[in-house]
Amino acid sequence: MFDYFYQISGLVEDNTDANMEGALIARDRVGVQDFVLLDSHTSETSFLNNLRKRYQENLIYTYIGTLLVSVNPYKELDIYTVTQMQLYRGVNFFELPPHLYAIADNAYRVMCSEYNNHFILISGESGAGKTEASKKILQYYAVTCPTTEQLQIVRDRLLLSNPVLEAFGNAKTLRNDNSSRFGKYMDIQFDFKGAPVGGHILSYLIEKSRVVHQNHGERNFHIFYQLLEGGDKDLLCWLGLERNPQKYAYLIQGRCAKVFSINDKNDWKIVRKAFSIIDFTEKDLEHLFGIVASVLHLGNIQFEEDSNGHAIIRNGTQIKWISKVSFPSQVVLVLQVLSPLNVDLAFYARDAVAKAIYGRTFTWLVNKINGSLANKDSTRKTVIGLLDIYGFEVLDTNSFEQFCINYCNEKLQQLLIEMTLKAEQEEYELEGIEWEPIPYFNNKIICDLVEQKHKGIISILDEECLRPGEATDLSFLEKLEEKVGDHAHFVTRKLADQKTRKSIDWVDFRLLHYAGEVTYFAKLNKLFSMSSQVATQFKNSLMSLIEILMSKEPSYVRCIKPNENKEPGKFDDFLIRHQVKYLGLMEHLRVRRAGFAYRRKYELFLQRYKSLCPATWPHWHGPAAEGVERLIKHLGYKPEEYKLGRTKIFIRFPKTLFATEDAFEI
Ligand code: ATP
Ligand code: MG
Repeated sequence: MFDYFYQISGLVEDNTDANMEGALIARDRVGVQDFVLLDSHTSETSFLNNLRKRYQENLIYTYIGTLLVSVNPYKELDIYTVTQMQLYRGVNFFELPPHLYAIADNAYRVMCSEYNNHFILISGESGAGKTEASKKILQYYAVTCPTTEQLQIVRDRLLLSNPVLEAFGNAKTLRNDNSSRFGKYMDIQFDFKGAPVGGHILSYLIEKSRVVHQNHGERNFHIFYQLLEGGDKDLLCWLGLERNPQKYAYLIQGRCAKVFSINDKNDWKIVRKAFSIIDFTEKDLEHLFGIVASVLHLGNIQFEEDSNGHAIIRNGTQIKWISKVSFPSQVVLVLQVLSPLNVDLAFYARDAVAKAIYGRTFTWLVNKINGSLANKDSTRKTVIGLLDIYGFEVLDTNSFEQFCINYCNEKLQQLLIEMTLKAEQEEYELEGIEWEPIPYFNNKIICDLVEQKHKGIISILDEECLRPGEATDLSFLEKLEEKVGDHAHFVTRKLADQKTRKSIDWVDFRLLHYAGEVTYFAKLNKLFSMSSQVATQFKNSLMSLIEILMSKEPSYVRCIKPNENKEPGKFDDFLIRHQVKYLGLMEHLRVRRAGFAYRRKYELFLQRYKSLCPATWPHWHGPAAEGVERLIKHLGYKPEEYKLGRTKIFIRFPKTLFATEDAFEI
């Protein structure tokens, strides 16, 4: 079992005395490598001080027990080399400085020895380094796990699924030049020898709205620009595309088609290569690029009004290209259906078609990759799942997408709380230790507010959308108020007084999430009504994700973004304090410390400290538990400082152990 306290004790058990002394000196210079070791303080300020000290020394990783906190360095560090990977391979968790590789290796080792399944949950806000972390973990397995010539193709496909998915699912945003616009869960499957033999990817809620609209300073998905920049002349000619992105309405709304940090031409080459290794045929690619091109052509379709006030297509060129390179009959059909609409609705429908096409293509792509990663032999496999999922998000205008993202974060926070507390309590129970759980905020109440049957926001949304023509944003809000208005985490904000409500065309509502307050823009006809089914689907897929995760042993990586400017070395206290809060790090630390900071098997404790007590030195012949009792009595441990379990001594405060360590020097 992935056992935090066992690992903590591993630190001391496996360290030599010299290492321990070194660790104590290092503590002053570069902070502590595990927040649990911070002397008596668990204040946010001392937490931040420790994080800052380490960040300034390029030590971007720090533990809270087995949870890894990572601060984005925004510069290349020399800690991801093959030599480093080999260093971490098979080494006990706390013997080396905190690292992603230690987390990866620990999960792997436990998986191999106990033959069970694991997941590594990587969370944090946009730009915090989640995707980089998940790629580094994958690389770690690719390099350090045993493989055969036959299996190398699997390894390559696992690695190369990344550039393909990033091309279609990532985009430049204001916060991150390579922002993942979908949630991703990837299982890596291992055989009984620990060799990676397959994989499976689940994707969540790709941000389709980006296909037709980008905010200022943002781009569409990378693939569009890659194709135009990198695609060879013949291909573009066949697709009816011009090389210049400025020609395409769907690519220029953010006014930044060219980005300094992105080399679309080069990325295109990588993606093309990846496609060939992942087993896409030329025919598959023809279809795929045909669809990408169709979306661009679709965006350039203009409508004008005929004498009946109906929309007609101004120029047939785009349609011709769409028919040529994509699904002719379907598109023509769609456009015929569009014809009786007025111009506004025609544009709206055009965009809806573009979004739907892109969304389906993304799903097809994921399925196709899964086909190529699938391991067909039926022997039992174990898995390590990597979850790289969008962090809590508060924008200026928060719509349905933010609602889903933040709901997802509520669920994952709940999972973390349940799984860490559960593991801890199990250990205490097993050892017969009494303990009083410390109070912590259980966000189940907010999850219920969103997802409860009949009473939750998603159900209310569903109900409203079953009344087409009748439901409005106001009626939706009224229902919310009626059903969840007195919920402690729900606040409505009407933008006008009761009398003039009818003339108001927008309203919003506010939720008090575990991570803070968010106001959602609930314009029903545009955002929420279109999203009803999507919300329920998303809820269901999240439920099954949680089920998948609950059956596995967890590891956590919490990523922090150090500043808003993507600047190396800049530690923005305010911004980081905020993330420490909403990532629940202080809570996590408090839970860790409320229990017992250390636990060690009696035999190992005695072996290490027996020289500090005349009764146990040089040999103790009785049961180890009794020897330990004599020893700590001699050392003057107070009753509140420790508990004696069935097989281990539990020490509540780090300072007790530090004092015992210091006793060596006296
Ligand atoms: P989003 O939620 O928007 O997808 P993210 O958390 O996945 O964000 P990443 O794309 O992983 O963020 O990281 C953003 C950028 O930060 C990277 O493109 C890279 O430049 C830098 N970065 C992140 N982690 C590291 C690292 N360990 N070393 C060096 N640079 C890093
Ligand atoms: Mg990402």
